[in-house]
Amino acid sequence: MDRKIQHDLACAADIIRNSRSAVALTGAGISTPSGIPDFRSTDSGLWETYDPFEVASLSAFRYRPEKFYEWMRPLARGMQEALPNAAHVGLAQLEIAGYLKAIITQNIDNLHQRAGAKNVLEVHGTMQTLTCAQCFHQYSAEAFYGPYLEQGVSPRCPDCTAVLTPDVILFGQQLPGNAS
Ligand code: ZN
Repeated sequence: MDRKIQHDLACAADIIRNSRSAVALTGAGISTPSGIPDFRSTDSGLWETYDPFEVASLSAFRYRPEKFYEWMRPLARGMQEALPNAAHVGLAQLEIAGYLKAIITQNIDNLHQRAGAKNVLEVHGTMQTLTCAQCFHQYSAEAFYGPYLEQGVSPRCPDCTAVLTPDVILFGQQLPGNAS
C-alpha cells in the first residue's frame, strides 16, 4: 500500500480510537461499489429518462404515484439485489466494537443494516416501510416487493386501497426532525 495512504489511515485510526463519540456520515459514494447508482451521476441513467422533480417530488407523487413507482422500480430492484461492500462491513464492525456511536446516512438502500450495523440514522428515510396517506397505517414493504418488482404493481393499502407512500424523503419534502 502507498505510504501516504498508510500514514493517513493510521492517523484516521488514531482519531477514531481517541474520540469519545465518533459517528460516520455516509452518502451515495459508499454504495456505488455495490452497484447502486449515484443519483447525481450523469451516466447512471436514473436522471436521464425522467426529470426527478417530475416523478420523485411530493406533489408529483400525489398526482401520479404510479409514475413514481415505475421510475423507482429498477432502482428498488438494484437495491434488493445489491450486497454490502467492504466499506459497509468495516463501518458496521467499528460500530459493533464501540468505536462509532452511530452511522448517519443519506442512503435508502439498507446496506449498512445488512452489513450488521445497529444504530443507523437514515436522514432520507427508508424503503423498508410504506405508509398510507389516507388512513396512516404503516406497513413493512416486504410483502409488497414481489408484485411490485416482478409485475410493476404499485403497493396499495390493504385496508383502504389508496396507493402507499414509501417512507423516504421525496423532493420538496423537509428532512425529518428525528431520524430514527
Ligand atoms: Zn389506507
